[in-house]
Amino acid sequence: MTLEAINVHHGYGNETVFEGVSLTVTPGEVVGIIGPSGVGKSTLLRLLALFDAPNQGSISYENEDVWQVSEQQRLEYRRQIGMVFQEASLFDASARRNAEYGLRVRQSWTDRLRHELSSLVGKTNGTGDAIEALDTVGLREKVDQDASSLSGGEAQRVAFARALAYEPDILLLDEPTSDLDPRNTAVIEDAVLEAKKRGIGVVIATHDMHQAERIADRVAVLLENDIIEVGDTETVFENPT
Ligand code: ADP
Ligand code: ADP
Repeated sequence: MTLEAINVHHGYGNETVFEGVSLTVTPGEVVGIIGPSGVGKSTLLRLLALFDAPNQGSISYENEDVWQVSEQQRLEYRRQIGMVFQEASLFDASARRNAEYGLRVRQSWTDRLRHELSSLVGKTNGTGDAIEALDTVGLREKVDQDASSLSGGEAQRVAFARALAYEPDILLLDEPTSDLDPRNTAVIEDAVLEAKKRGIGVVIATHDMHQAERIADRVAVLLENDIIEVGDTETVFENPT
């Protein structure tokens, strides 16, 4: 599924953050948004996550303007999008429960009922995806460990696993490794490439150009008020504007 920002203008109050930004993400590609702090990377991701409507321009999903469809339809679109923030927000339960959380909210009540029934008869319940996702971020051994006893890097890996377990079409990552050491960063970067392999379209905001070079197929350079270049990662880095 293709998610697009088309000629988007946005700001807060009288403050303009950017004008005329366009960006597309298609299945199985990683798009990096790079630029210094404060230029609007988070703002753009929030628009792509359908949290906020842009002041001008449109956000489209499968070629539908997401702010022109019904609330119900928008919610359906919203469900195809996973997001990971700079800081993991986990609740006080095991890594597994945390990774399952996205699945639980997404499940329809019929699925939930089936889930309750299957656990009553002692069958395995639908936690396979969560465990597989925790495996992808190298935490298979820690599935039953309490979130509060995980390191910051491990907690962020659980947050990433939660987004993966949700099986989104699109994954939006807002500076997911800014607070992490190189080892944890490498795990997350590998997991991003795994998500890409599964056909997920990924958008990652980062102030780390090297990170974009390592994992992005295309990059958008966001500087004050505008995206100045969107292109193939190698081309953008070879011809700095
Ligand atoms: P980051 O730069 O790590 O993405 P944030 O997105 O949280 O951090 O914030 C970026 C800037 O936006 C900060 O200077 C913050 O003070 C400001 N900011 C965030 N939320 C608000 C808000 N609700 N009102 C005013 N300023 C905000
Ligand atoms: P980045 O992610 O690139 O650091 P942001 O999108 O967080 O940038 O912020 C872009 C600008 O918008 C900043 O000037 C910030 O202070 C402002 N801003 C962000 N969120 C809010 C908000 N909720 N209310 C008011 N201003 C905000």
